[in-house]
Amino acid sequence: MDLRHRVERARAATDAAGLDALLITPGPDLRYLLGTPASSHERLTCLVLPARGTPTLVVPRLERPGIDEATLDRLGIEVIDWVDGSDPYRLVAAVVQRPQATTGVSDDMPARHVLGLRDAMPAAQQRLAGPVLRQLRMRKDDLEVAALRKAAAAIDRVHARMAELIKPGRTEAEVGADLAAAMVDEGHAAAAFVIVGSGPNGASPHHELSDRIIERGDVVVVDIGGPVPEGYHSDCTRTYVVGGEPPASILQTYAVLQEAQLAATVAVRPGVTAADVDFAARQALADAGLAEYFVHRTGHGIGLEVHEEPYIVAGNDLVLEPGMTFSVEPGVYFPRRWGARIEDIVLVTEDGCEPLNHRPRELVRL
Ligand code: ZN
Ligand code: ZN
Ligand code: ZN
Repeated sequence: MDLRHRVERARAATDAAGLDALLITPGPDLRYLLGTPASSHERLTCLVLPARGTPTLVVPRLERPGIDEATLDRLGIEVIDWVDGSDPYRLVAAVVQRPQATTGVSDDMPARHVLGLRDAMPAAQQRLAGPVLRQLRMRKDDLEVAALRKAAAAIDRVHARMAELIKPGRTEAEVGADLAAAMVDEGHAAAAFVIVGSGPNGASPHHELSDRIIERGDVVVVDIGGPVPEGYHSDCTRTYVVGGEPPASILQTYAVLQEAQLAATVAVRPGVTAADVDFAARQALADAGLAEYFVHRTGHGIGLEVHEEPYIVAGNDLVLEPGMTFSVEPGVYFPRRWGARIEDIVLVTEDGCEPLNHRPRELVRL
């Protein structure tokens, strides 16, 4: 079974990194290793994953009924619970055993737990678990790719409904509320983010929603995404124009952006670096004198998190490998006027890449 494989590989990677144990609290790393989300509260839940020895999940007793003990059993993970009034950090220390251990804590572990563990193991060293686990998490297995395909297909179906939703006279917020509902209708567990940047608002890459009324002739950037029940995310941007033909200058600029997005996608294959892909998009825009209007990196990895490794950014020498999934999303932003972005999620294959999103990448007339 896949999960068993993940736990074994995580332990091998822990050993190879010279760590004695990973200490993983609820979040994407724990979900990756156990296959199910665990809730995170002020009480400590922590998977102790030693390089050698028995992996152990330390949980509050009141949370124990909610965990899938059959799966943990199958994965060879022991469960130890603790009651309010006792010290869960000492329990973790007892499982780790070595007082001088070098531990890797989840990147997003709450500070109260980091410090609690430090108090219980004052001679131990704390490092980040992220660098150990990202080697595994960056290369998606078949189950993960299937979930990402499902997410991409769901968000494509939402973009296919845009003509019903974006109309002159509606506000961005009204469109956004309908989009969030449509995302759930089409199979998402929730809408994680909804960006409707109309007219001048499109010039702000992380604009979300406002009460601005969409007007005839507006260019509208729609960037939407969320997790499917398996926990894997969609993230897809298309740019629309509402009612009527845009001026030639906008069409020309948009055509360059589309070339840049294609150039970056074509550049993706095993052996090239993340920086190479970023450069491909940037170069296409620079050739047309538009470099200064592309104000962010070309993309980000995606999986259990919307933004994760690998980041497709200048200076990132990480070499792409089959199974990696990330966004290719160049954009151009003209302050106080308009903006555009095209975003697909791509899967690195043996000899190139496969876009998981399939809606038309042209400036879509509504
Ligand atoms: Zn973003
Ligand atoms: Zn996006
Ligand atoms: Zn994105």
